[in-house]
Amino acid sequence: MIKKSDSLYTIDGIEIERGQRLRVNIDMGSIYDFTDVKMPVEVIRGKKDGPTLFVSSTIHGDEINGIEITRRLLDSKAIKNICGMLIVIPIVNIFGFNDRSRYLPDRRDLNRCFPGLKSGSLTSQLAYKFMQEIVLKSDFGIDLHTGAFHRCNYPQIRADISDKVTLNLAKAFGAPVLIGSNLRDGSLRAAVTQANIPMILFEAGEALRFDEASIQIGVDGILNVMHEIGMIKAKSKKVINKKIFIALSSSWVRAPHSGIHIAHRKLGELVKKGDVLGEISNPMGDHKTQVKAHETGIIIGKSMLPLANKGDALFHIACEKQNEKLMTQNQMHEHFENVDPVNI
Ligand SMILES: [Zn+2]
Repeated sequence: MIKKSDSLYTIDGIEIERGQRLRVNIDMGSIYDFTDVKMPVEVIRGKKDGPTLFVSSTIHGDEINGIEITRRLLDSKAIKNICGMLIVIPIVNIFGFNDRSRYLPDRRDLNRCFPGLKSGSLTSQLAYKFMQEIVLKSDFGIDLHTGAFHRCNYPQIRADISDKVTLNLAKAFGAPVLIGSNLRDGSLRAAVTQANIPMILFEAGEALRFDEASIQIGVDGILNVMHEIGMIKAKSKKVINKKIFIALSSSWVRAPHSGIHIAHRKLGELVKKGDVLGEISNPMGDHKTQVKAHETGIIIGKSMLPLANKGDALFHIACEKQNEKLMTQNQMHEHFENVDPVNI
């Protein structure tokens, strides 16, 4: 295992010594009125050497659930005596966060601008600095996200499950669903994969909201991963999900008609192809159209807005396409029973 913290370690020019806990405010330039913009980072370096793990949140400025996860993590007794180094970045997109916006002031999505450019756009510069000062100095990473505005996600890990080390981290985290999703160009996940740094992404809850179940799973999941890579001795006592639904693909069920949408199914529910998930009608309650599952799987995302235009995404279903063909109905039923439900 690589142990980057064995050597001299600096962040934005500040040296972090063994046994130190430091707040480093990474310089991110200034805004119009010349106010300096800083990205606060908490760095905890254990007395004993070990791997370096970064935990980042709010790459999308309105996805704040991860901020509460990192706040509780930093308050946890479990990280008092670690091996290696923990780098926690509660808010990566400081510009978007202050604006309650997913994007940056140049209207770019940070998670499409990695690995960034030193002299690129504002977003590209932020991506570059984050890569240079945090990501490339780490051995492992966990990035925290939520659903977009008016969308809620069931707690899930997204990771490159073709890589054995990443798959181990993903399983160790213990979220109820694990999705082996494709990499998007410009995403942090694509950039870390290129740099051979195993990273997992935790998606849970809704933009601009705190969700207690998701927060607890997030904190426990990070501690579970820290245990897995040898940073802490004790495993999180609450192993929430012993069984994990591993999905190979996911897709959205879209509104078949415009109107008022009443959802009948919840996040985390297992559904079969053809099941009725909701109903769309006009405001008088007539002209009803059923919303049906187009795949068999688990509901991992859902629109929270009861208003829909035809084509709007309503339910996100993760499924195991490859195995599905090989499973009989009974086997499928047994498989589904192995998934532990989480209330959200
Ligand atoms: Zn996000």
